[in-house]
Amino acid sequence: MANIIDGKVIAAQVRNEVALDAARFLAATGRKPGLHVILVGDDPASAVYVRNKELAAEKSGIWGAVHRLPHDASERAVLDLVEQLNQDHLVDGILVQFPVPAHISQGKIVATISPDKDVDGLHAENVGRLWSGLPGLVSCTPAGCMRLLETTGVALEGKRAIVIGRSNLVGKPIAALLLNQSATVTLAHSRTVDLPARVREADVVIAAVGRAKMVRGDWIKPGAVVIDVGMNRDDAGNLCGDVDYAACAEQASFITPVPGGVGPMTIAMLLKNTVQAAFARTT
Ligand code: NAP
Repeated sequence: MANIIDGKVIAAQVRNEVALDAARFLAATGRKPGLHVILVGDDPASAVYVRNKELAAEKSGIWGAVHRLPHDASERAVLDLVEQLNQDHLVDGILVQFPVPAHISQGKIVATISPDKDVDGLHAENVGRLWSGLPGLVSCTPAGCMRLLETTGVALEGKRAIVIGRSNLVGKPIAALLLNQSATVTLAHSRTVDLPARVREADVVIAAVGRAKMVRGDWIKPGAVVIDVGMNRDDAGNLCGDVDYAACAEQASFITPVPGGVGPMTIAMLLKNTVQAAFARTT
């Protein structure tokens, strides 16, 4: 039976580290690191996500500010706000809550955020730095997955890893991070032929697909580490991952549950990125 990787406990450790770093930053500069979130429109789920980020920031000694724009705000108005925050030296991190209304280009927003304030790690400069093995701001959920892997104590060097899902937000950055740790990485997607066979070869399995319980227990090599990024609802309406947890836990050495695995790490890593950006900009 697998060891459970407890994302709530590990996220709390990260938030404690952030609070210490934020206090150090305050002592050195006389101000708190500043995280600015832009919310366009009134989607209730997005409003909850943004409120959670604001509260978590404040608890960790980060100044969390939210800029709310109406649903019919023009693309120019959003880009102007991003540019204004780029110029403001009290702003260390800028995050635009996605999705934005359809008339606004996410790509233009990402390209406009200053790379040194891009705490979501989505700007092409940060993506290029990641694939080049250079320091930079890394997308929060992938960074959280790596922190979870680190706590297992399993060395990644030379291991076979498979990432299922190739999104710019999750799958691709995780693949780059694993590669940077000298794992041998397979990046699988909807056109991958014989996915179960590819998963059976892997010592580390990262599922980031968005399909409830897709990864079956008999796909998992005995002793593999399984990280489940998926957030789905099962037929009964309960939150579940991309992995059939009960069956995969029989095979794996370590596994993340859903909820309580990768989910809590995302905001914690956002706060870590904000403090990292604050120090990088001022020192
Ligand atoms: P996404 O942009 O929809 O990408 C899904 C990926 O899965 C695509 O690359 C797609 O392949 C691949 N895929 C779809 N069906 C497949 C199949 N049958 N076999 C193999 N690959 C398949 O999703 P995302 O943003 O990466 O998110 C993935 C999951 O993670 C979602 O459940 C999301 O809710 C969750 N998530 C969780 C957090 C968190 O904080 N815990 C954060 C972000 C996302 P193609 O490219 O070929 O279409």
